[in-house]
Amino acid sequence: MIARGHVTAADTLDELASSTGMDPSKLKASIDTYNAVVSGAQTDPLGFTANNTADAQMTEGPWYACKKVPTVHHTMGGLEINVNSEVLNTNDQPIKGLYACGEVTGGIHGSNRLGGNAICDCMTFGRNAGTHAAQNAGVSVS
Ligand SMILES: Cc1cc2nc3c(=O)[nH]c(=O)nc-3n(C[C@H](O)[C@H](O)[C@H](O)COP(=O)(O)OP(=O)(O)OC[C@H]3O[C@@H](n4cnc5c(N)ncnc54)[C@H](O)[C@@H]3O)c2cc1C
Repeated sequence: MIARGHVTAADTLDELASSTGMDPSKLKASIDTYNAVVSGAQTDPLGFTANNTADAQMTEGPWYACKKVPTVHHTMGGLEINVNSEVLNTNDQPIKGLYACGEVTGGIHGSNRLGGNAICDCMTFGRNAGTHAAQNAGVSVS
């Protein structure tokens, strides 16, 4: 990630601020606040609570920085399918010849998806959809 330029590494906070364009005083204040919160000396103004062993004070370099942006991780809604991966209409009847799987479908994971299960969903129902689409077209699938 460093070689690709996604992560910046520096020995000191001043160097890190310089190479990322951050205000060094704000960066240091942020680290100071974090250290005070995890040591129990201060309540976090944003509500963070130190709750595991990784929440330890950061006092020595090297320091690392990377940009973080919000992104869609997984969509829970989508087309409803049956066990043959056929898309259902609003009367819960299969739409002939229309199959779906993966991110475009909804309901597979109930009301919450366990982390890591989306790829299982894609592979399982992808194969299932392909198998039934082929069979529907008269192609034998082993
Ligand atoms: C940051 C991130 C981390 C994730 N981590 C995990 C993880 O650790 N474990 C896990 O299980 N899941 C994870 N997921 C979720 C998982 O990656 C997705 O659920 C999965 O990749 C969805 O696959 P898909 O093929 O259904 O949809 P997509 O990957 O969205 O594929 C849809 C494809 O259709 C194409 N397309 C769209 N419109 C058209 C069109 N009109 N014509 C032709 N092509 C079109 C798109 O370009 C795209 O290539 C993560 C997702 C994100 C964003």
